[in-house]
Amino acid sequence: MTPAPAKATDIHSNADPQEARVKHLHWKAAVDFEQQVIRATATWEIEAAADADLITFDTKGLTIEKVQTDNDTTAEYRLSEPDAILGQALAVLIQPTTKTVTIHYRTNPGAEALQWLSPQQTAGKKHPFLFTQSQAILARSWVPCQDSPGIRFTYDAEVTVPPALLALMSASNPETRNKTGVYTFEMKQPIPSYLLALAVGDVSFKSISPRSGIYAEPSVVGKAAWEFADLEKMIAGAEELYGPYQWERYDVLVLPPSFPFGGMENPRLTFATPTILSGDRSLTSLIAHELAHSWSGNLVTNATWNDFWLNEGFTVYFETRIMEKLYGRDYAEMLASLNLQDLKSEIQSLSDDGHPADTKLKLNLASRNPDDGVTAIAYNKGYFFLRTIEEMNGREKFDRFVKDYFTQNAFKVMTTEAFIPFIRDYYQKQYNITLNDTLFEEWIYGEGLPNSCSQPKSIRFDAVDAAMTKWKEGQKIEALTKPWTTHEWLHFINHLPDSLTPSQLKDVDALGHFTASGNAEILAAWGVIAIHNQYTPAYAKIEDFLIHTGRRKFLMPIYTEFIKTAEGKAQAQAIYAKARPNYHFVAVNSLDKLLGPP
Ligand SMILES: [Zn+2]
Repeated sequence: MTPAPAKATDIHSNADPQEARVKHLHWKAAVDFEQQVIRATATWEIEAAADADLITFDTKGLTIEKVQTDNDTTAEYRLSEPDAILGQALAVLIQPTTKTVTIHYRTNPGAEALQWLSPQQTAGKKHPFLFTQSQAILARSWVPCQDSPGIRFTYDAEVTVPPALLALMSASNPETRNKTGVYTFEMKQPIPSYLLALAVGDVSFKSISPRSGIYAEPSVVGKAAWEFADLEKMIAGAEELYGPYQWERYDVLVLPPSFPFGGMENPRLTFATPTILSGDRSLTSLIAHELAHSWSGNLVTNATWNDFWLNEGFTVYFETRIMEKLYGRDYAEMLASLNLQDLKSEIQSLSDDGHPADTKLKLNLASRNPDDGVTAIAYNKGYFFLRTIEEMNGREKFDRFVKDYFTQNAFKVMTTEAFIPFIRDYYQKQYNITLNDTLFEEWIYGEGLPNSCSQPKSIRFDAVDAAMTKWKEGQKIEALTKPWTTHEWLHFINHLPDSLTPSQLKDVDALGHFTASGNAEILAAWGVIAIHNQYTPAYAKIEDFLIHTGRRKFLMPIYTEFIKTAEGKAQAQAIYAKARPNYHFVAVNSLDKLLGPP
């Protein structure tokens, strides 16, 4: 057998790829909206070591009906005791010569990766909707798999859905519905399990360019296509920076509002939150982010979730460069400044909560849910680490490095410990530059923000700061000479004094129209200020926002602010009781911890 790549033990998977590993999945499935289950067979083509007698899969909450090897023989298998985080190991007896393992199974209605939406929870209100979220370790709740980012496989699938609905996967996709409700898919490039994805719903397609387009509910698709009109420019810009796009097509699926993340970089088909449909194209950096993952993450993949910063830090860096290329340096510097603000407050709150070790880039998530690693550290500290290296020795050198890093490690995995010698050797050999140990020690294994952190400079934010200073001195902010963008308003909100008088609150709300805003970023930032200062005119809007948005990034700060007072906590729990059925497992999991299950 070919040796397993980069021997990094993945503490979040039961698989032992050294003994036997998967190579290709043939998935045949039927989606049952009534029972909220998927009935499926997963046929895995495998590769086993010369002395192998077992292959081990990850499962969570699956009902295993039958297991066969090489198509006909009924195979012996054993499920381990369930673990709250890891689920159950499914160990199947094999011979070293075994070529395939077929698992007949069904999911259960509480499967953590699957979100079943009632018609009421969609924009169209007529048809139900299903989507998956496999990252980090939830793929095992809908497909028995070797659920580790270090193990790649190709796949094909045949999925049967109700004929009124369209099925889509992280693979080659249909553009129109067919009468049978049977769809076939193929993913020819090897991917890790966390990039397995399925969505089923009343979805239409609108083309943007020969290789890109938008999927969304019929009432949303036009608006979404307008919002992402620059999609092809983004892809072309990304390719100019760091080499060819390797996945053929790039489409975006805009999901109903309960999607817990901003976006998920499912290959060929990004899943995106509708909260970026701001009506003014001001939040499209999220699409640049997901697109950038087509290189960082999907092409060069973190070997374990402790190395998550390699996926996200590179992606934020690449995203910011795409935005700079399309919209200019000052635009990108606004994004970077906001990232730095987020990073500083994340470091503060992780330290206050007694988790200073979680402010290191290299994480230790032993016995923890890898979801705990999804903080601004991986994203923004990762970004500033890479930006700092860029600025130390120049952009030209850094760009050549990044391009070669992606090319030389394409379709492979990367650990933090392999990354360090990779970049050091590269700088040494190519440029005769020694990157010193302190750089890596401080940023990767050190807590907090190193002093060497580079500082974004935004002229537009300087103007906001000047206006803010005047306002704090008691002068009124009169009509702005040039209307501010979303980012300038966010910067303004982030720098408001900690406590505000009722008249000040009224004043700034009248100035920025925050409570009335249709922009989710603005509303979420303003919501925290409003609750902190008990600005009740905003409460009805905040409640409506919480009930109709499932994006965890927005939910957590608002609920967290609410529970700081006893009265607020009661309000938060009352809202949560109404909103919880609309949220995805990933959001519910975080919020139950914060608020207690209703
Ligand atoms: Zn990302």
